[in-house]
Amino acid sequence: MTYRIIRTLIAIMAFVPVASFDMMQPQSVALGGETYVYICTGPKSERYHKTSECRGLERCSKDVKKVTLAHAEDMGRTPCKICYK
Ligand SMILES: [Zn+2]
Repeated sequence: MTYRIIRTLIAIMAFVPVASFDMMQPQSVALGGETYVYICTGPKSERYHKTSECRGLERCSKDVKKVTLAHAEDMGRTPCKICYK
């Protein structure tokens, strides 16, 4: 029983460094804890990006838009291979 709790704690702790790092970048996380990603609105774009500085967005022929991660996934976007390694 204790073992399960420890495993759960380890699983949670694995996400903490990422979460606290995001907290230092207010523009990427809203107050509700919503994660924002960047997408290119061009017709050929299928990815979403962690940062607006990503190399993958430089090739974008249209506008770069900031949307929630949930919204990007709803649109069928997949994580960019450059910024989500
Ligand atoms: Zn990217």
